[in-house]
Amino acid sequence: MIKRIVIVGAGQAGLAAATKLRQEGFQGAITMLGDEGAMPYQRPPLSKAYLLGKLEAERLSFRNNDFFYLQNIGICQNEPALEIDGVTKGVVTAHGRHLYDQLILATGADPIKLPASMAEGIDNIFYLRNKADADRLRPILREGAQLLVVGGGYIGLEVAAASRQVGAQVTLVEMAPRILNRVAAEPTASYFRRLHSSQGVDIREGIGLTGLKPDGAAITATLADESTLTIDAVVVGVRPNVGLAEAAGLATDGGFLVDEFGRTSDPSIWAAGDCASFSYQSEMTRIESVPHAIDQAEHVARNILGAELPYRPRPWFWSHQYSTKLQIAGFNRGYDRATVSQGIAEGSMTVSYFQGERLIAVDCLNDARSFMLAKRQLGL
Ligand code: FAD
Repeated sequence: MIKRIVIVGAGQAGLAAATKLRQEGFQGAITMLGDEGAMPYQRPPLSKAYLLGKLEAERLSFRNNDFFYLQNIGICQNEPALEIDGVTKGVVTAHGRHLYDQLILATGADPIKLPASMAEGIDNIFYLRNKADADRLRPILREGAQLLVVGGGYIGLEVAAASRQVGAQVTLVEMAPRILNRVAAEPTASYFRRLHSSQGVDIREGIGLTGLKPDGAAITATLADESTLTIDAVVVGVRPNVGLAEAAGLATDGGFLVDEFGRTSDPSIWAAGDCASFSYQSEMTRIESVPHAIDQAEHVARNILGAELPYRPRPWFWSHQYSTKLQIAGFNRGYDRATVSQGIAEGSMTVSYFQGERLIAVDCLNDARSFMLAKRQLGL
């Protein structure tokens, strides 16, 4: 009988799992261990409205203290898990040991730190993973500030958009041949390249950052083409947080390896959200999005209680940049053809990805109608 469930990580997936366990009637002890000293909160606004100062901090939280009290969910806001002992079934923290019958890992993703040799002696390097990061970055984003964004994925592009909106000067470098290289086809990348260029962002593709040097109060950044920039600050992207798994001897593959039910290589330990790596469409897959974190965590909660429900992601995602809303449905990997269609509203557009004749994904730009239709067609 399961009496104690411990959840490491008090974020989107951790909260979804705890909530689902109670909804499914689990009456034993639930303990969530967090490391941010905060109640669970939403991350998407950190690179959008919150970064722009248009959303108050209190509005980031998912639930207030009453919820945790009424649901009888123990939450230790500032008690990072330091070690997992899979033999005695305990999670070690600085305050002691939390024993579990079942353990859920929902540790999210971690910043990709710049190499120590590059970062040495430089203060203004920012990562945007949590609220504390956003709070550090906000005062830097001001009229006239010179900012270098490293990485042209969605978060990098959103930071570039927010920075331009407050009047900062932005250069964005992407080491891959183009922005959004891993996640979108060329027409979507072109749309955002044009959008950002029209807003004054200097986008440099196929060029990495190779060095940083303090230069008085500023920083000199050197790029792979040997050009240099004088900047005030650098912002960098994220990767999964699996340090704990390695210490516990669990299998990892960029994320915690889980089976179709969300179970790791230890049958009492499960994982969900950004940190979980699972086989989907015959490829190891890790998804960093809110809908996936909730869905997978809810599956894990039900499977712990015996449901045996295989997890099939229903991928969708969104991004906000300036006045453009991008909505993505499906996975575009393995597509052999991408078509572009204009939407009904002026300036709206949809990129549809096909494998043979089969639609597998769409990127909808200010085109909510096509998004809804495609979601239905894709069965999401
Ligand atoms: P998280 O929500 O990151 O929670 C993990 C928690 O575990 C964190 O609090 C972490 O500090 C904690 N933790 C880690 N290690 C330990 C430890 N050892 N002990 C205790 N706690 C630990 N998704 C979208 O769908 N749309 C968007 O527009 C979007 N925008 C985003 C913008 C930003 C700036 C960021 C950072 C993410 C964005 N995402 C977006 C992604 C989305 O927020 C994540 O996919 C989602 O939060 C994943 O949930 P999670 O629970 O797996 O991880």
